[in-house]
Amino acid sequence: MTGSIANRSLLQPKSLADALKMLRGEGPLTPLAGCTDLYVSLNFGTLEDTRFLNLWGLDALRTIDVRRDVLTIGALATHTDLIRSQHVRRRLPMLAAAAREVGGVQIQNRGTIGGNVANASPAGDTLPVLAAADAVVVLQSVDGARRVPFNDFYTGYRQTVRRVDELIVAFEIPPVPGRQWFRKVGTRAAQAISKIVMAGVAPKGRQTKIAPRLAFGSVAPTVIRARRTEAALARGESIEAAQRILLGELVPIDDIRSTAVYRRQVAANLLAAFMAE
Ligand SMILES: Cc1cc2nc3c(=O)[nH]c(=O)nc-3n(C[C@H](O)[C@H](O)[C@H](O)COP(=O)(O)OP(=O)(O)OC[C@H]3O[C@@H](n4cnc5c(N)ncnc54)[C@H](O)[C@@H]3O)c2cc1C
Repeated sequence: MTGSIANRSLLQPKSLADALKMLRGEGPLTPLAGCTDLYVSLNFGTLEDTRFLNLWGLDALRTIDVRRDVLTIGALATHTDLIRSQHVRRRLPMLAAAAREVGGVQIQNRGTIGGNVANASPAGDTLPVLAAADAVVVLQSVDGARRVPFNDFYTGYRQTVRRVDELIVAFEIPPVPGRQWFRKVGTRAAQAISKIVMAGVAPKGRQTKIAPRLAFGSVAPTVIRARRTEAALARGESIEAAQRILLGELVPIDDIRSTAVYRRQVAANLLAAFMAE
């Protein structure tokens, strides 16, 4: 049943400071960015929240910049902003590749990286990229900012360390050495949530000191880094051995989009394709 917007209210902050004050003083409030995820719940009649904080006008949270060699992406940067950004394309091409796979153009124009991450779906396309890039999530409240490694941000299925009076304001991404890779496997090329999604970083040419990094989505309650598989590859074990270890690291489920068996097999295939390229 479609949810109604009657009896729901929307607060309109004029600045980040204003938004943080409202979150602390007038909460609980649900942040609303591009609204592409929230609207789906409203449409399905499952959106229980009644009071919202509209972040869309806070342009200060939309910038993409390089500061002291760290790529800094504002939480309100849309997927289109990521695709168009020279900084992202040059320093983190796997993020531009992921953004290109999100929904269709309308969703890319409206959906934000902050919303993708805060929504905490294990199928979110940008999540494996941020995991493989060792990104840092910048959370802010009226008390100030705190930085959480992306790989510690999720604590369980759709659970994060974000407090209700905090907003995600940015992501900080140190330089990522080596070659980057992103693949999404879904029902079709556009408007399909992933059955499995992978981001990888590996040595390029003679960069033998670079340790491989592998992150997968849709294979566990949260996005995961396959640390044991990474270690096996760093030790020089064969791809077949690494695939066997990877299968032990994945805990996929059967759901409407795919089966656990399929997800495991495709993850192993993706690993082989990544290492072979
Ligand atoms: C047709 C369709 C296709 C889609 N396809 C894909 C796809 O292929 N891949 C994919 O990954 N996703 C997909 N999505 C999901 C969605 O578009 C993305 O997750 C998008 O990035 C969400 O961003 P948003 O700004 O719209 O989030 P919103 O809907 O505004 O918010 C989502 C959640 O994040 C919270 N939130 C938002 N911003 C912040 C912030 N700065 N700080 C704290 N909390 C915040 C909100 O409170 C809410 O809980 C699709 C959605 C639709 C409707």
